Amino acid sequence: MSGYIDLVLPRFLRYVRYGTASDSANLSVTPTTPGQWTLARALVQELQDLGVDASLTDSCYVLARLPASAGREHAPTIGFLAHLDTSDEVSGENVTPILVENYDGNPIQLAAGICLDSEKEPDLAAHIGRAIVHSDGTTLLGADDKAGIAAIIGAVEYLLQNPDIAHGPVEIIFSPDEETGKGLPAFPRDQIHAVACYTVDGGAQGELESECFNAYHAAVSFRGRVTHLGTARGVLVNAALS
Ligand SMILES: [Zn+2]
Repeated sequence: MSGYIDLVLPRFLRYVRYGTASDSANLSVTPTTPGQWTLARALVQELQDLGVDASLTDSCYVLARLPASAGREHAPTIGFLAHLDTSDEVSGENVTPILVENYDGNPIQLAAGICLDSEKEPDLAAHIGRAIVHSDGTTLLGADDKAGIAAIIGAVEYLLQNPDIAHGPVEIIFSPDEETGKGLPAFPRDQIHAVACYTVDGGAQGELESECFNAYHAAVSFRGRVTHLGTARGVLVNAALS
């Protein structure tokens, strides 16, 4: 029987090799890039190979259902969400993930003169002595949100391997175009039974946020006088006071 991490890490290293950057300059279609279809189809196949009921919507949402364990059929359905796309601010093509089994805390020199330094990065320092995965510096790693997808499918396989773990019905939803904010209008609400969902995405280990989130952004224009904050006294009108 596998430990949970053995079900997650190999998947993560595989998923990051799919180029799934969304395209914030191509918002007329969902998903904004064909690479998201490629990963979505592979995930449906992988879930079906595990014996899970999985399908793909016309807008590239992966939906899957794990039935309740015996005696828990009437428990509320709980959903787990993650997103297929990665940010288009840095290339997500030809990602080469590098696994460091036991990070010693020393600076990690990457391509193009980029250095990951645990003395300057508290998040990195927090993982000294543990396994970490980073890119080679030429691309995004794409942990946002391939890590979420790997964590969820790993959990599905873990539940299948451990039928003694009692659970209610589980729903899985992998969405396109979270980074552009354009995926959610196609959210297949009429096909979702979950009374509550957990999004597995970003953030620090152990962090739990309770919020209604979407990735829309707004461009706001202000008209007025501009002044440098260093010389603003008596010139700048404080918006909070006016
Ligand atoms: Zn994310």
